[in-house]
Amino acid sequence: MSETLANLLQENRRFEPPAALADAANVKADAYEEADADRLAFWAKQAHRLDWAKEWDQVLDWSNPPFAKWFVGGELNVAYNCLDRHVAAGRGDKVAIHWEGEPGDTRTLTYADLHALTCQAANALADLGVRAGDRVAIYLPMIPEAAVAMLACARIGATHSVVFGGFSADALSGRIQDASAKVVITADGGYRRGKPSGLKTIVDEAVAQCPTIEHVLVVRRTGQEVAWSERDLWWHETVETASTEHEAQPFDAEHPLFILYTSGTTAKPKGILHTTGGYLTQASYTQHAVFDLKPETDVYWCTADIGWVTGHSYIVYGPLSNGATQVMYEGTPDTPHKGRFWDIVDKYGVTILYTAPTLIRTMMKWGDEFPAAANLSSLRVLGSVGEPINPEAWMWYRKNIGHDNTPVVDTWWQTETGAIMISPLPGVTGTKPGSAMRPLPGISADVVDDEGKSVPNGGGGFLVLREPWPSMLRTIWGDDQRFIDTYWSRFPGMYFAGDGAKKDDDGDLWLLGRVDDVMLVSGHNISTTEVESALVSHPSVAEAAVVGATDPTTGQAIVAFTIPRGSVDTAGDAGEALIKELRDHVAKTLGPIAKPRQIMLVAELPKTRSGKIMRRLLRDVAEHRSLGDVTTLQDSTVMDLISDGMKSAK
Ligand code: ATP
Ligand code: MG
Repeated sequence: MSETLANLLQENRRFEPPAALADAANVKADAYEEADADRLAFWAKQAHRLDWAKEWDQVLDWSNPPFAKWFVGGELNVAYNCLDRHVAAGRGDKVAIHWEGEPGDTRTLTYADLHALTCQAANALADLGVRAGDRVAIYLPMIPEAAVAMLACARIGATHSVVFGGFSADALSGRIQDASAKVVITADGGYRRGKPSGLKTIVDEAVAQCPTIEHVLVVRRTGQEVAWSERDLWWHETVETASTEHEAQPFDAEHPLFILYTSGTTAKPKGILHTTGGYLTQASYTQHAVFDLKPETDVYWCTADIGWVTGHSYIVYGPLSNGATQVMYEGTPDTPHKGRFWDIVDKYGVTILYTAPTLIRTMMKWGDEFPAAANLSSLRVLGSVGEPINPEAWMWYRKNIGHDNTPVVDTWWQTETGAIMISPLPGVTGTKPGSAMRPLPGISADVVDDEGKSVPNGGGGFLVLREPWPSMLRTIWGDDQRFIDTYWSRFPGMYFAGDGAKKDDDGDLWLLGRVDDVMLVSGHNISTTEVESALVSHPSVAEAAVVGATDPTTGQAIVAFTIPRGSVDTAGDAGEALIKELRDHVAKTLGPIAKPRQIMLVAELPKTRSGKIMRRLLRDVAEHRSLGDVTTLQDSTVMDLISDGMKSAK
């Protein structure tokens, strides 16, 4: 982005919080004033929502930026805060997890159950020689043992590194090696798309390259045959036979809690390091504030995988530290049918749902009849995370899932930020479809131009964070220099998020996608997000990805890959007519400058395993290059189909 980002999309719809929700909201408008008046006092107050074994001496030590220390001198145990204190307060019988396996099997774990199992796992890991500070890799399907494994590590001060269960042996071994993990916790397999998938086989292949691994602990989930060696141990023989008594020791507030590798949408994944006190403070507070979570009455469901940061902060640490009852689902949304999610919402009476734009757009593509067949009346707050949400997808979500009266909170954050940073508060903020609205209380986000100067309302540029925040990453594991170079060098004294954003006339924030994806067309910086949103606002379009391809006259030209909605006819002339209509529609919505040079109708888009569109591969296609690294792609055959289509369209 040479100057500022063009501000093309206008959105005038507004949705105020329902009055009853606003009246009873956990967090009210005064939280902003309180945090503005004294940011550190505000965060100290939120830290007091947790139980500390030793109070801190200093809220923030920022004497050696960008290396922050929060709650200096304080001590606490994360697992104690997520489990023991609820049991001690007489809430042991409360359901912590309603688990639903993909084949339809279920388990119910109370806080007492989860506590006992975590103590057993902590004892078993300690018996295997795992000590505070050691690293443990976790490569599990979405079963309760995934949460237990994380909590057991936290309990004994071991640093976990969860690797998404869909990653290859190479990806897994790279992450194990980078962290020098001592133990891997895995399963024989898990269920996805109606079939058992093998995990242990992948671990065996990965561990062959990992001399630091001493033991592989294996949960039996599918019962499939697995190869076995000396270092392998069954979970049911090791953990489930261990003592259920374990006293949690407190750890320093800055003790490393976990390493998590970013999704790898843009480049080689980075091992993001999070620590104990600040991380839990913000994960816990944001769960309470952004979702208005009422532990006594709500049933919360986050559809993310535990392998992503969303699963860390909003399946494990956020909900459990607040004593929530939640749903955990193992499988895919279309197994055995496309209404599975909505069946789950009705079955458990889910009140708060947190999911991703990719899923919402997929549901739009499948059609309105699936949610329409369900009741969904229990829902009262809807959340979105992972990518910019197109205004039309936001509207679809609110209308078809949220019966037109449920607040939608679009939450912006990253693996690096550890917890939600920019989001509406459901009982406070009047929302605008597609906008993440305002930084949360205690967070100072801004949009700056090339020189790091704050842009005025109506302007666009780079998203930055001006002040340290409790759940910020502390470094990139083993690479302080990359930490400094990646996040702190672009603008001195500010954290550079790598995302483009704009401020509207009211000063509310709109995320415009990654800075690397911004297009330069005839001297104008245009965001891929805005053009995609314009395409998705056409009734025939479910999903779109846009890239800038080199063009001899305009510098870059806009090339769009578009997935039509389920019912739309695209055969022959109908397809040609639709393409013309879509080009005109974009020109009308955003102005002629944004009219795509070319639109391709496709059946799928290349996505990372966390469901994000990988535009750099589409750029390769649009510029007729051979494809770059495809290892984090969910389904690499998608690219062959798109490349073939591109050739025939030429
Ligand atoms: P990598 O950094 O390895 O390329 P990644 O950025 O996809 O991978 P994550 O940390 O999982 O890895 O994702 C954070 C990014 O997701 C943000 O920087 C932003 O681009 C996008 N994102 C997340 N939530 C939102 C949101 N609500 N609106 C817009 N973008 C979002
Ligand atoms: Mg990133």
